[in-house]
Amino acid sequence: MFKSKYQTTDIVEALTKGIAVYETIRTYNNKPFALKEHYNRLCKSLSYLKIEPPKLTEFEELIYGNLSERIRIVYVYDGNLLSYVFRESTENYFISHVKIDFTIVRRADPMSMPPDLKSLGRPDIYLARLTKGDNYDVIMLGTKGQVCEGTFSNVFLIFKNKIVTPSLDSGILDGITRMHVLNFLREKGFNVEERIVEPYELFYADELFLTHTSRGIVPVDEIGKRKLETELGKELSTGFEEYIKCLL
Ligand code: PLP
Repeated sequence: MFKSKYQTTDIVEALTKGIAVYETIRTYNNKPFALKEHYNRLCKSLSYLKIEPPKLTEFEELIYGNLSERIRIVYVYDGNLLSYVFRESTENYFISHVKIDFTIVRRADPMSMPPDLKSLGRPDIYLARLTKGDNYDVIMLGTKGQVCEGTFSNVFLIFKNKIVTPSLDSGILDGITRMHVLNFLREKGFNVEERIVEPYELFYADELFLTHTSRGIVPVDEIGKRKLETELGKELSTGFEEYIKCLL
C-alpha cells in the first residue's frame, strides 16, 4: 500500500470519523485505461459528500507513481482528504464464463443513496455480497423490482436481434466498462438498447454477460439453475480487449 504525501492523519482515525470513496483502474501495457473517466466519477462521488476533489494532476500523479496491473485508489475524508493507493495484480485475468444469480438484497433507493456514490462498505452492496455463495456475482433489483446490476459489475442481455442493458435511470452505477462496451457494440453495428429491464428477461435472453473494469466482458453460462450459451459473449470479450488496446 502506498500512502500519499497529502496524508496528514492515520487511516484508522480517519475512518472512525469519516467516509471513504474509491476507484479501481486497469492498466494495459503499463498505460492506465479511462483515467479521466475514473477521475470524473471520483469527483461525482465526492460532490455528493460536499468534499472538494483533488486536482486531476494530483490524481494522475498518484496513478502514474503507482503503476501496476490494477490500481485501487481510496480517498478517506476526515476534514482533510487523504489518499491511499493499492497496487494489485490481475492474475488469471481471463475468465471464460461464470455463474451468477439474483440476490434478495435490493439496490438502495437512488433518492436516499445515489447509485454512483462509490464508497467503501456501501451497505446495499456489502449486504448483497454476503449472499453471493459460490456465484461470481449476484444481480440486485431496484426498489421497483427492475434489474439493476451486480455488486461489482453491470449486466447485458443478448437477444437475437439486439443487446439490452439496464439504463442509468434504472438506478445503477455508471460503469466505465459499460460505457465503453456500449460504444464498442454500436461501432460493431449491434442494435443496442438501454432501458428498464424486467427480471424475467434474464431467463429469456439467449446469452448474458457482465462488465467490469478488472475483467472487461465476462460471459455468463449459468443464472440460477438455467444454463446459457456463451458463444457471442466470448467473441465479444476477446474483441473488446482488442478494442481497448486501440483506444490507449
Ligand atoms: N456496478 C457496481 C455496483 C460496481 O461497484 C462496479 C465496479 O466497481 C460496476 C458496476 C462496474 O463498473 P466499472 O466498469 O466502472 O468497473
